[in-house]
Amino acid sequence: MTNTKAIGSYATEKPLEELTIQRRALTTHDVEIDINFCGICHSDLHAARNEWGGTKYPIVPGHEIVGRIAKAGTDVTKFKIGDLAAVGCIIDSCRDCDPCKEGLEQFCEPGNTIVFGSVDKHLGGHTFGGFSSNIVVDENFVLHVPENLNLAAAAPLLCAGITVYSPLMHWKAGKGKRIGIIGIGGLGHLAIKFAKAMGAEVTVFSTSKAKVADAHRLGADFVVLSTDAEQMKRQPKLDLIIDTVSANHNVNDYFRILKVDGTLVIVGLPAEQLAVGAYNLVKGRKNFAGSNIGGIAETQEMLEFCALHNITADIEIIQAQEINEAFDRLEKGDVHYRFVVDMASLKQ
Ligand code: NAP
Ligand code: ZN
Ligand code: ZN
Repeated sequence: MTNTKAIGSYATEKPLEELTIQRRALTTHDVEIDINFCGICHSDLHAARNEWGGTKYPIVPGHEIVGRIAKAGTDVTKFKIGDLAAVGCIIDSCRDCDPCKEGLEQFCEPGNTIVFGSVDKHLGGHTFGGFSSNIVVDENFVLHVPENLNLAAAAPLLCAGITVYSPLMHWKAGKGKRIGIIGIGGLGHLAIKFAKAMGAEVTVFSTSKAKVADAHRLGADFVVLSTDAEQMKRQPKLDLIIDTVSANHNVNDYFRILKVDGTLVIVGLPAEQLAVGAYNLVKGRKNFAGSNIGGIAETQEMLEFCALHNITADIEIIQAQEINEAFDRLEKGDVHYRFVVDMASLKQ
């Protein structure tokens, strides 16, 4: 067991601060990763502020982790010391249930181990995430980062990236498909890049006038200011909509602009329940679906897709000491388009 510097918080109302956590001694299949960068996802904010309920304190958030292998257990075969490595949300699962056997570890039936806030099977207590200097993870839950990607800008792919890549692939976004993306934040801006790279026509819905020009730069074919009722009324129908909004909003507005048999996939996780008008779904046999991150193999596939198409996140690199300010800006939607913490700043 080793002591590790981390950034976390002791209670809902408390800011994040520097603290010391323990990482386990390596088992034969574990690797220790020196963390270079960790992205800040809105889920880190929801969890740190206990917006979903059930947060275990102290919490060390962070689940978009990239770095290099510092140590490897004796039976490790997939990595060697010095390799680039990444860790997302899932750090273990039962490996035996039907979803696990299908590579859907995110839906592990007995329950997977999430990088922060899950029961720690090795040390007791709960797991601590990537706002820290290093992490110990079973090599089977560690990803290879393609060398051609900028390391800091690749970090957000580990959650924001896979969370939008997975439903775009599942619902077959591609040439001839009209795709809508709601919200231009961490998830949304990557969804625009992926859907374009897949060959789809992309319409973006944003509440922020200031992001309209940027949405075009990111690859959007059309941008709709969702607060403008006239623009929403004129909107042609779409095949698939990915909804990344982090707060309560009216999904019924979007059911109306789906084609017959079209699907709205919710990936955003507002704390409040969303109201659904049944008529908006029954008229047009529309589908309201959800999707949650992605399995380990699919996450690796997504990283290879990014390497091929040269896709990374648009990021603002911050120091560990600036995390609270970044959380406040994230809350306000003031992010272009992912904060990434430079973990070297934690070691100073
Ligand atoms: P983010 O960077 O804060 O982006 C969310 C965007 O939603 C904002 O930039 C804003 O875009 C829009 N928005 C915010 N408040 C809104 C409101 N009241 N009405 C309409 N639009 C609003 O967050 P993120 O990191 O991308 O995460 C988005 C959500 O996905 C969070 O709830 C997060 O917990 C969840 N999440 C889910 C998964 C999963 O596996 N399902 C994985 C990761 C994250 P505009 O300014 O363009 O309107
Ligand atoms: Zn996330
Ligand atoms: Zn399982």
